[in-house]
Amino acid sequence: MKVMKFGGTSVGKPERMAEIRKLITKGDEPKMVVLSALSGTTNSLTEISHALATGDRELAKQYIDALELHYQNFIVDLVKSEKWYQKAKDVLAEHFEFLNIILKISYSDALNKDILAQGELLSTKLFSIYLHEQNISHVWLAALDFMTIDPSGEPQVESIKIKLSQILEKYQDTDIFVTQGYICRNARGEVDNLKRGGSDYTASLVAAAIGASVCEIWTDIDGMHNNDPRIVKNTKPIKHLCFDEAAELAYFGAKILHPASIWPAQHFKFPVRLLNTMDPGAYGTLIESESDSEGVKAIAAKDFITAIKIKSTRMLLAYGFLRKIFEVFEKYKTSIDMVTTSEVAVSLTIDNDSYLPEIINELEMYGSIDVDREQTIVTIVGYHITKTENVLAKVFSSISEIPVRMVSFGGSQHNISILVSHEHKEKTMQLLNDGLFS
Ligand code: ADP
Ligand code: ASP
Ligand code: MG
Repeated sequence: MKVMKFGGTSVGKPERMAEIRKLITKGDEPKMVVLSALSGTTNSLTEISHALATGDRELAKQYIDALELHYQNFIVDLVKSEKWYQKAKDVLAEHFEFLNIILKISYSDALNKDILAQGELLSTKLFSIYLHEQNISHVWLAALDFMTIDPSGEPQVESIKIKLSQILEKYQDTDIFVTQGYICRNARGEVDNLKRGGSDYTASLVAAAIGASVCEIWTDIDGMHNNDPRIVKNTKPIKHLCFDEAAELAYFGAKILHPASIWPAQHFKFPVRLLNTMDPGAYGTLIESESDSEGVKAIAAKDFITAIKIKSTRMLLAYGFLRKIFEVFEKYKTSIDMVTTSEVAVSLTIDNDSYLPEIINELEMYGSIDVDREQTIVTIVGYHITKTENVLAKVFSSISEIPVRMVSFGGSQHNISILVSHEHKEKTMQLLNDGLFS
């Protein structure tokens, strides 16, 4: 069986769903189809939730009505017959009734997760109705019946495997399954999710659980490009990446992949393919265990980084000192991306500043603290990049005009990371592109 995941733009229009139908009915291999919400839906649901959280029910109602109208128009073009149009209307009635009911309920984090789950439920139910009308035999599976996360938010791969195989056993003659990306249940049994962009993660977890031959991520671009195409001109698709390279790129901001979506493939040993729904013949990117070449492959950037410097007049690097500092971050479940040390100071970066005041408060015991917000980590990735001849010289001569705040080299053999102020991000990425790829 193979997993085929289609993202927001790939399901965002009725004609795109027709394209997906063609793709999932090709070939003999059974398919597990994982869908995201229609593009824009999760953003709208976030706005609804935010309006409710701030007590603005009127605004929330406006967002709900606008979203409902969007779906009403969508189903007019999705199905032809009265019978299936009526079924699609019933689906909308069910989910929009829910959204209207929550207007009367007091806001909580659990309710927020319930709201966010509506997008994937709607997209998969509507796609299933479309497939029924097209006489394509398939089974719709509720991800909430098998996708679970533990108390620290990590997916429970073994349990997912057991639950999913019990479900699949009931449908031995079925060739197409359709299920939701992104949504799951948490340790309290409530509806939860795998964070923004999480459908990629669902796809690779499901691929791990069913022992899939491949996990195909179908999106709106012909694979992983060598730089962020939203920012940099003349980017090109990369045909081949190894798991380490892809994982670094996803972690350091290449939006095409959820940051955690590679580890299941690496651990359970299945290839990942990034493919383009708009151009299904394009080769895309194949991600597998071996790398095909060494040296610079791609550049990515991660925004909303906060840099913290702890400066001490005392013996900063006396043993045990770094441990004490790291323990502060551990206590507040805040992970550190980059670290540099000198005789008198330690600089490090975090991407989640929810507990920044508490962290600073505790760090002040060890010295004076400087905080720089609005930073960006620009990462240059490639297999064994740190061993590549002259690579640092090329990187720094390309960006000689950019003030660099921190550099990390050698932490992994496959990346070089540079911290710059957000205002210099675009220029840094373009200059690196010109210097490293032209
Ligand atoms: P989906 O809705 O299918 O999950 P996403 O919007 O999450 O799609 O990811 C695809 C988008 O990622 C592309 O349209 C592109 O703008 C963006 N992107 C950012 N960096 C890269 C990169 N290095 N290569 C390809 N796409 C990238
Ligand atoms: N719909 C979710 C989001 O927009 C999950 C996904 O698309 O991967 O973040
Ligand atoms: Mg995505």
